[in-house]
Amino acid sequence: MIVDMHRHLASIHERYPQVQNLAMSFTEGSPAAAGVESTQAPSAPERVSEILDEMSGAGVDLSVLVYGDYGLRLGEGVQSVAEENRLQAELAAQHPGALLSFVGVDPRRASAAELVSTAITEWGARGVKLHPATGFYPFEDECLELYKIAGEQEVPVAIHTGPSASPLYSHTAQPVFVDRVAADFPDTNFILQHAGQCWWEEAATIAFCKPNVFLEVSMWQWVWQRGPEEFARSISWMLRMAGGGRVLFGSDFPGLRGAMALDEWVAVFHDLPLTARNYGLTITENDIDGILGKNAADLLRLPT
Ligand SMILES: [Zn+2]
Repeated sequence: MIVDMHRHLASIHERYPQVQNLAMSFTEGSPAAAGVESTQAPSAPERVSEILDEMSGAGVDLSVLVYGDYGLRLGEGVQSVAEENRLQAELAAQHPGALLSFVGVDPRRASAAELVSTAITEWGARGVKLHPATGFYPFEDECLELYKIAGEQEVPVAIHTGPSASPLYSHTAQPVFVDRVAADFPDTNFILQHAGQCWWEEAATIAFCKPNVFLEVSMWQWVWQRGPEEFARSISWMLRMAGGGRVLFGSDFPGLRGAMALDEWVAVFHDLPLTARNYGLTITENDIDGILGKNAADLLRLPT
C-alpha cells in the first residue's frame, strides 16, 4: 500500500500569485523555481480527477489532502476557510479509500477550535494541519486546544516545518518549536511536514526524543535532485533516529509536480535499498514498505 501524506487541491502558488511570482523569480534552475507551476488551479472536481489519475499511474492508493490556511498573512480567499475545508472533506468523502482530508486552520482565528471539531466529527476529516509560516509558533496558547481535540479524536496534527518564501516566515516553522507540545500532549501525534527541510537533523533528533513525532518527506524531491548519496544518507539517518515506523512518504503535489513526476518520486523509494547499498548504507525493503504506506496506515488507523 502506498500513502501520499501530503497533497493539496491547489498549491500555494496557484492560490496566491504573489508567492508564485516571487518563487518564479528565483534563479533559473534552482530547485525552488523548478517546483513552481505558473498555471491557475483547475476547478476542484477537475483537480480531483487529475489527482486520481496521477495516483493510479504511480501506484499510490491513498492521498491525504491537507489544507493550508494562509489567509491571515497572505489575504483571505473568495470562500471562507470553513467553506474550503468543507469542500475538501466532501471531495475526499466522495472517494473513500483513495482520498482523506486534514482540516487546516490558522489557530489565531476565533473559530479555529470549533472548525477543527466540526471537520473531524461531522465532515470526516482525519487530521489537522497547521502552517506556522503565517506567523505563529506551534506552542502558542491558541494552538493548544487544537492539539487536545486531535488527541481526543485520535487524529494526527501535521505541522509545516522548514523555510518559506516571502511574505511567509521561516523562523516560526523550525522543528524545535514542536518539541514542547509533543511533550505536553503525549497522546497527540505530530507530523513534521517536509521533515524540517534544511533543519532535518533537528527534526530527526526531536523525533528521536519524542515518540509521538513523525517525519514526512515531501519536498525532499529537491534533496534527491542534489544527489542520491545525500538523499540516501539523510533518509537512513532519519530511519535510525525516528525508527522505521515514523518516516512517511509525501509528494506536496501539485506544487512540487514541476520537480519530478509522482511515479518517479515513488520509484526513488522503491530503488532506495539499492541506492543506499551503493554508498555502504543499509535501508531495507521493510523500511521502504513502512515509509511508503504501512507507517501512514498505522498512524491514520486505516482498516487493514
Ligand atoms: Zn504542502
